[in-house]
Amino acid sequence: MNRDLSKAGIGTQAVWAGEEGPLLQHSTQVPIVQSVSFGYDDLDDWQAVALGQKPGHIYSRNTNPTVAALEEKVRVLEGAEAATSMASGMAAISNTIFSLVRPGDRIVSVKDSYGGTNQLFREFLPQINVVSFLCDTTDFAAIEAEIAKGCKLLYLETPTNPTLKVIDIERLAHKGHQVGATVVTDNTFATPINQHPLQLGSDLVIHSATKYLGGHADALGGIVCGRKDLVHAIFHYREITGAALDPFAAYLLLRGLKTLALRIERQNASTLEIAHFLEAHAAVARVFYPGLASHAQHEIAKKQMPGGFGGMLSFVLHGGYNQVKRFLPKLNYAHRAANLGAVETIVGPPATTSHVEVSAADRAAMGIPEALVRYSAGIEDVGDLLADLTQALGSA
Ligand SMILES: *Cc1c(COP(=O)(O)O)cnc(C)c1O
Repeated sequence: MNRDLSKAGIGTQAVWAGEEGPLLQHSTQVPIVQSVSFGYDDLDDWQAVALGQKPGHIYSRNTNPTVAALEEKVRVLEGAEAATSMASGMAAISNTIFSLVRPGDRIVSVKDSYGGTNQLFREFLPQINVVSFLCDTTDFAAIEAEIAKGCKLLYLETPTNPTLKVIDIERLAHKGHQVGATVVTDNTFATPINQHPLQLGSDLVIHSATKYLGGHADALGGIVCGRKDLVHAIFHYREITGAALDPFAAYLLLRGLKTLALRIERQNASTLEIAHFLEAHAAVARVFYPGLASHAQHEIAKKQMPGGFGGMLSFVLHGGYNQVKRFLPKLNYAHRAANLGAVETIVGPPATTSHVEVSAADRAAMGIPEALVRYSAGIEDVGDLLADLTQALGSA
C-alpha cells in the first residue's frame, strides 16, 4: 500500500485521513480509547514518551489516540501543518486567542462574529487589557485602516452568523501580515469542502466541530489548524488550561466526518434552491445567502468558496417577530433549536440562537433584524423541505 492522501480528493481524505495507522487488533475503525492514562513498565520508555522523544501517550488531557486520529483527519482536510482539538468550538476560539495575546495587545475583528466570540472581545479580553476593535464586517477599507494602526491578531469569520456576510480573507490577511498580525479565520459555516482559509493567507483556521464536521448534533468539539509553531503554542496552553476533547466525542466526530463531502454537497445544492425559492416568496422580505446574485459580496464568495456556498441561510419575514413566532412552529421538518450544521434541518431566530448572549438593543445595532429566521438546511430531500416551507409560509 502506498497511499498519498495529500494528492487525494477531499471526499477521499474525509474517509481515510487519520485512520491509517495500525489499529487495535486489526480493527478497521478507530477505537474509542476511553482511558485517562497510558502505562509503562519500563521507566526509561515512560520518560522518553513524556519528553516527546518517543511517540506515545501519557495522559488524555494532553494527548489521546482517538483524539489524535480526529486531529489528523481535520489537519489533512484543511491542508494544514498541524492541528489540535478542544472540548468545544468556544474552547478552541478562547484558547487560541488567550494563548496568542498579551496585555496591551490590539485585536482587529468584525461586528458580526459568533455571539460567544463577540462576548470574549467585549467582556473577557478587556479584563487582561486586550482591546478589540470590531469593525463593520464588510467595510474592508475601514478594516484595513484599523489593521494599519497595528494589531497582534486579525480575527475573521466568514460567512457570518446569522446574516451570512462574506469577508474577503485574502485581501485582509495580506494587510494583516503587513503589520505582523497573526490571522485567524473561523471556518465553521463554510467547512473545508467549500473554503480553504489557509490557502487564502490565514495563519490559523478554527472550527466548531460541533456543527458540520460532526454533522449529527450529538457531540461538542473544536479544532484549530494551521502553522506548526502557532498550533503548538495553542496546544501547550490547552494542555494546562485543560479543555481537552473527550475520546468518545472524538469518535463521534470522526464517524460524522467520513460523510462530510456527501453531506455538504447535498446541503450546498439544497440551500441554493431554497434561497431562490424564498427570494421569490411574497411572505419573505429579504434572503441572505452568499450564493444569490443579490448578495452584496456574491463576487467575493464565488472567488473564495469554490466548493459551494454552504448550508446556512437566513431570511426576514414580513410582519416582524410575531410572524416568526407563528411561522416556526408550523415547520414539520425542522428542529427549533440553538444549533446548526446537522443532518436534520434546524431553525431559530437569532434572539434564541446565535445571539442569545446579546441584548435586543445590541442586536439592532449589529444590524440583525428581529424578524430574521436562521435556517440550517439538513440532508432531507429538498422537495420535502420546499413543500414544508410552502405550507408554513402560506398559513403563517
Ligand atoms: C457554534 C459556533 C461556535 C461555537 O462552537 P461551540 O462548539 O458551540 O462551542 C463558534 N463559531 C461559530 C461560527 C459557530 O457557529
